[in-house]
Amino acid sequence: MNDFIIGTSALDDANSQLLKEAGIGWIRVGFPFPFSDRIGGSLTSEYLDAKVAVQAWAARGFRLMGVTSIVGLGTYARDAEGQMHMTWKDFLPAWVGAVGSDEYLRNYQDMCAFLAQDLRGVVQMWQIANELDIPQFSGPLNLKKSCDLVLLGAQGFKSVDPALIVSTNTGGSPPAYYLYGRLFADPRCCLDYCGVDQYYGSWQDGSPDRWAARITELYDITGVKVLVNEWGFSSAGEAMTPDEYRAVQLGAPSCQFKKWMYTWGKGHTPESQAEYVRIALESFLSQREKLLGFFFYRWEDQESCWQCGSPDCPIETAWGLVDKRSHPKPSFHTFQDGVKHLLE
Ligand SMILES: [Zn+2]
Repeated sequence: MNDFIIGTSALDDANSQLLKEAGIGWIRVGFPFPFSDRIGGSLTSEYLDAKVAVQAWAARGFRLMGVTSIVGLGTYARDAEGQMHMTWKDFLPAWVGAVGSDEYLRNYQDMCAFLAQDLRGVVQMWQIANELDIPQFSGPLNLKKSCDLVLLGAQGFKSVDPALIVSTNTGGSPPAYYLYGRLFADPRCCLDYCGVDQYYGSWQDGSPDRWAARITELYDITGVKVLVNEWGFSSAGEAMTPDEYRAVQLGAPSCQFKKWMYTWGKGHTPESQAEYVRIALESFLSQREKLLGFFFYRWEDQESCWQCGSPDCPIETAWGLVDKRSHPKPSFHTFQDGVKHLLE
């Protein structure tokens, strides 16, 4: 079996046959914080549901990458004047300790050790937290403490099962260089891959062929293989006007305008998405030996935008290789073709 990792994020009831036809062998699954009252105490129903879900994926023949509980999440809502603002919500209970404190970090490490034990043989790979260079995912946890969280979490996993593949991802923003520089130079480092999320043409300027240079750069500065934890191109949404673009640069969320800061090719359309996928996979192929693999974001289009809740916002609703009814979009076919070459 080829050991190159081809994965995606998908709903629990996604069509297994179509996933396999696309060449996908791995599923990325987020885990909530497992304990309700104390470390080692009673387990939450949300955690137990997630455990059942990954066991079902494994029974369907997929391998799993778990994402440990994110520290919190920022989402957007409109005020009376129609302006959107971010609201931060902690995802770890208050009893875990003050965010970033020694107690908090120790509890997070112990949680990772528990996950390694409780999901042994089902989840083979872990991403610790998510995009800690992005305020929407790190909230009050600063970059230095974010490194401690990742390094201690990795030690927690490895203390129970050294064979697990463990690291974290960044959102590829400029502060990500701090995380890469600090994490991989730390004497405690036992991270197995350099994780990165990039959305050239949607969240960042650029084209999909930039992946080749990005992978080489990250491999050279970290000394480990690169895992692309997220990539993709939304198939819907207009580009912003210059005034809207400036407003977003000054802090407004993209959801306020329901438009993209960046675009590529003939714009955010299903046909452009297919061409984008074809070029990105060619770019991955050119750096195959420096890549551990990738997780496409994401398998299916969504009913509503998780950032603002709106069903007609293109920001988080049109990333899929298949539509909301599980019908393949044009990108499904270019994905399938490109993956065949990567696995040859
Ligand atoms: Zn939105």
